[in-house]
Amino acid sequence: MPAAALPSGVGPSGILVLIGMMGVGKTTVGRRLAQIYGIPFVDADAEIERAAGCTISEIFARHGENAFRAGERRVIKRLLQGPPCILATGGGAWMDAETRRLVRMHACSLWLRAPVHVLLKRVHGRGGRPLLAQGDPKEIMSRLVGLRYPVYAEADVIIDCGDETVEQGVRRVQEALSELQKPLTVPVTLASHHYDVLIGPDLISRAGAWLAPHLPQKRVVVVTDNIVAELHLPRLLNSFAETGIQADVIAVAGGEESKSLTCYAQVMTQLLELGIERGTTIVALGGGVVGDLAGFVAATALRGLPFVQIPTTLLSQVDSSVGGKTGINAPSGKNLIGAFHQPIAVLADSSALATLPRRQRIAGYAEIVKSGMISDPELFAWCEAHGADVLDGDPAALVDAVQKACVFKAAVVAADEREQAKQGGRALLNLGHTFAHALEAELGYDGRLLHGEAVSIGLHLATALSVRLGLAPVADLERVDAHLRKLAMPAGFDWFETPFSAAALLAHMSHDKKMRDGLISFVLLRGIGQAFTSRNVPMDTVRELLLDEGCSG
Ligand code: NAD
Repeated sequence: MPAAALPSGVGPSGILVLIGMMGVGKTTVGRRLAQIYGIPFVDADAEIERAAGCTISEIFARHGENAFRAGERRVIKRLLQGPPCILATGGGAWMDAETRRLVRMHACSLWLRAPVHVLLKRVHGRGGRPLLAQGDPKEIMSRLVGLRYPVYAEADVIIDCGDETVEQGVRRVQEALSELQKPLTVPVTLASHHYDVLIGPDLISRAGAWLAPHLPQKRVVVVTDNIVAELHLPRLLNSFAETGIQADVIAVAGGEESKSLTCYAQVMTQLLELGIERGTTIVALGGGVVGDLAGFVAATALRGLPFVQIPTTLLSQVDSSVGGKTGINAPSGKNLIGAFHQPIAVLADSSALATLPRRQRIAGYAEIVKSGMISDPELFAWCEAHGADVLDGDPAALVDAVQKACVFKAAVVAADEREQAKQGGRALLNLGHTFAHALEAELGYDGRLLHGEAVSIGLHLATALSVRLGLAPVADLERVDAHLRKLAMPAGFDWFETPFSAAALLAHMSHDKKMRDGLISFVLLRGIGQAFTSRNVPMDTVRELLLDEGCSG
């Protein structure tokens, strides 16, 4: 029979590394997989013995465990740079952090997991092992399992082995490999910091494995809101328990009210009462509200704690979780208290979006359209072709959309990390926001208008203002409006039953925190994909626009 192709999920190196306890069947399963995929089977222990010219027991006896691990690391590194193979490793190899790092970089890891009684039966059936002869085998095996399983759980794939035949086990491995999809990665590279945004389905269930390599200490505090906690916290906590990460939880009420000084004080007090240390990582599980609040807590507790974002709304996956802006609202305005504090990792789990109400998806989608309008006409055209799929919650379209928007945001943030550019830069991300903030402020942030809905209207108004100023072609305004309206998104004041007062909106604009020297900053367009910032917009023109759009005086 011709060999089957190695599933693409294994990655470009074509190397599959088998990990697991003695006796679990790495050699038997590995040899059979190698046969199926037509690639060599390599036993790392045999390679080490060959390289050293003596047995592993002799290496241990003569040079000790440290020297053995160093040799093992060297041999595995060499094999990982070689041709495709199925590579079985000794039970202790994966416990070495550097070996894990190398495998993660170059190969796909698969853990054959079995309970202690199955391992003991299998080892016994093969004449026992010297390690187990040093005392009570069950006690020794249980102790090793307790130490190793939380670290084995960082493998890319986990296969549970029980009493099935080798063929059944091999088939399960084949199935798992064919379904394996490594998450998409968007790198965010800043002057003094680098992190990745991982995007893909069901990342929360394996969050412990994804995050463990980045955590300074296997201890986290999850900050979430009550709604998200009910939907997604259990699988996050399971994944932390599986990988031996100690996790405490602080839950706040869902909604913008939680970005308050009062809530900040409560979360900070609870956090400090937990006796956290400098290496404890704050994990934000939720939408932009939780991300902004938890991020600001992380920025300020003990003068800065490591921080991870697990965004669960479309808005937070495409916008707020990337870029390091954190903050809370002051009685006098939104986001007025804050800090730049970059995360060490972002996990954007597309499966989490399945529970998100459509209205929230629309709000997040407006930020994607915004990204295209700023400087990525291809992204805008992609939105025109696939926007309906995104709003319908199509999983592939959501992953695509999140990736495209994160690539865009990562580039903007990398070029202007702290919004200091004189022209363009991060300030462009405020396209539509001068109008959006005025609308939100006028409605008192009471939930009638979501932030993304306000941005959607703001996109229309910013484009209309650009046309009125003779900067953008009217055809682009028609294109923006056609897209928003086709998807039943808010695109003007006709979204509301009662008219807004132009004077009230202008007053809110003049209190915007982006004001400088008394001038309001607007992001304008020369066309779709050509945004720029301006402080020279005559307020009379803005007033005329608002009146023409249906506002009262
Ligand atoms: P949100 O965090 O309030 O979430 C919206 C609602 O959806 C909440 O009730 C929440 O409990 C619920 N929810 C979250 N995930 C869910 C899921 N998977 N399934 C079901 N329900 C879920 O709002 P948001 O729109 O994500 O974020 C808005 C906030 O983000 C605003 O405060 C805004 O200022 C901020 N923001 C920050 C940045 C930044 O760069 N830091 C950028 C844009 C917006």
